[in-house]
Amino acid sequence: MGNRFQAQDRFADGAQYIAGRLSPGTSGRIQDVVDPATGQTVHTYELAGPGDVDAAVAAAREALPGWAGATPGERSDAMHRFAAVLAGQADELARAESLQCGKPIKLTTEFDVPGTVDNTAFFAGAARLLQGQSAGEYSGDHTSYVRREPIGVVGSIAPWNYPLQMAAWKVLPAIAAGNTIVLKPAELTPFTSLMFAAAAAEAGIPDGVVNVVSGAGRDAGERLAGHPDVAMTSFTGSTAVGKRVAELAVATVKRLHLELGGKAPFVVFDDADLEAAVHGAVAGALINTGQDCTAATRAYVQRPLYDAFVSGVADLMATVRLGDPFDPATDLGPLVSHAQRDRVAAFVERARGYATVVTGGEAPQGELKNGAYYRPTLITGAAQTSEAVQSEIFGPVLVVLPFDSDDEGIALANDTPYGLAASAWSRDVFRANRATREIKAGCVWINDHIPIISEMPHGGYRASGFGKDMSTYSFEEYTQVKHVMFDNTAVAAKDWHRTVFGDR
Ligand code: NAD
Repeated sequence: MGNRFQAQDRFADGAQYIAGRLSPGTSGRIQDVVDPATGQTVHTYELAGPGDVDAAVAAAREALPGWAGATPGERSDAMHRFAAVLAGQADELARAESLQCGKPIKLTTEFDVPGTVDNTAFFAGAARLLQGQSAGEYSGDHTSYVRREPIGVVGSIAPWNYPLQMAAWKVLPAIAAGNTIVLKPAELTPFTSLMFAAAAAEAGIPDGVVNVVSGAGRDAGERLAGHPDVAMTSFTGSTAVGKRVAELAVATVKRLHLELGGKAPFVVFDDADLEAAVHGAVAGALINTGQDCTAATRAYVQRPLYDAFVSGVADLMATVRLGDPFDPATDLGPLVSHAQRDRVAAFVERARGYATVVTGGEAPQGELKNGAYYRPTLITGAAQTSEAVQSEIFGPVLVVLPFDSDDEGIALANDTPYGLAASAWSRDVFRANRATREIKAGCVWINDHIPIISEMPHGGYRASGFGKDMSTYSFEEYTQVKHVMFDNTAVAAKDWHRTVFGDR
């Protein structure tokens, strides 16, 4: 099948990208990158140690005055070139992402890579549109205005499920606003983050503006999250690690942006288009082999449609083609690793004790047996309080539950600690509109589930975190506002001084 990515050639000099060049790590610890479709090691590199993190932060610090002092137009021009370089490398980026994650090539070619190019082009434009309140004489005696300034060196920590898109979501708003950045990808999936940083340099973005340290969470991640010269941590990953990163941010008083886990509900009212809901549920649950923080994980279906929905989903799941990620006909690739596959399988095995596994619930044998594959899995009969409904499984597993009244459907949708994304399915505009108001999540889709767009914000409520990626809302995270106040009276003895000394 298709031409695989040759990592050994590309990263022969190492998997750290600091001050514009690749270098080996200095932790003394070796990390394998494994193709999850075959179980074979495709690359070996030395992880970043604390010294590499320090060097990357120092490079970002050195690059900061020049980059923050560039005009918005200059930053925008460089980022437009960046988008063009990425577009020119689309094929190689797609192959690298498919190899390290096991994603079907049609997903990386049609979603991960074009989404990243579009994000880059969006932030190239947005770099010129950093807006604030207009200047005015709010006190009567002063002119006030607001300066929107970069925060400084940003430390970003990313997960393995969408390595290229996560690099883009973290790096682009940060540098568009004039910050410099050190990005730590997940240790399993460093390739496309390194390629992204190198593409920035190729486009003329100065060395040190974008740095990548490929290291383990406990040493490189914690060093970055607690570094005294890092002004902000932007983290995407699990809620558990997010809490640890938050503790480290408190100790060094950093700005914090947390994009954490999800357990998205999928609420189907009894007037919904059943065929559309069935298609939406299967696509929404299986995208990226279910390793998507916004994936449809809990479908609540109003009683009259419940049986037809369950059988429709089971039938459609049976048509999904598992296979080699490099085969253009493959619908579903492996999970990112054998460990993640085993974790998902363990959730399903435990669910057999309290629910019904309608379809799936096993790893395929035969040609795929060495890969981290798992069949699309449908579970029914689970209680709302059960683990399968409450916990993030992060695999190709959908749980379906019935509901009776609209009130109950919305209450069940809100009944987990998470609040990242949700969808509601109805042809009734009032019902749909009610769902958008009452479901507590950072994104609510109506009659669809998954699409994202550069212009619109992505981010959670509640245990799914706070702060927004993408869109100009992300500038709220990556900038700080300064109030500047000019006296207009030129009077020495100002009226308000009497509150401190003297009489009127
Ligand atoms: P994870 O939390 O295990 O790891 C995320 C990153 O944190 C990795 O780079 C890891 O090396 C690092 N890390 C681990 N321990 C650390 C520590 N003690 N200090 C600092 N860094 C540390 O998550 P994962 O398994 O890579 O990714 C899956 C999770 O990410 C899921 O929970 C998923 O929902 C979440 N996610 C959320 C979003 C979102 O936008 N909300 C997007 C993608 C993924």
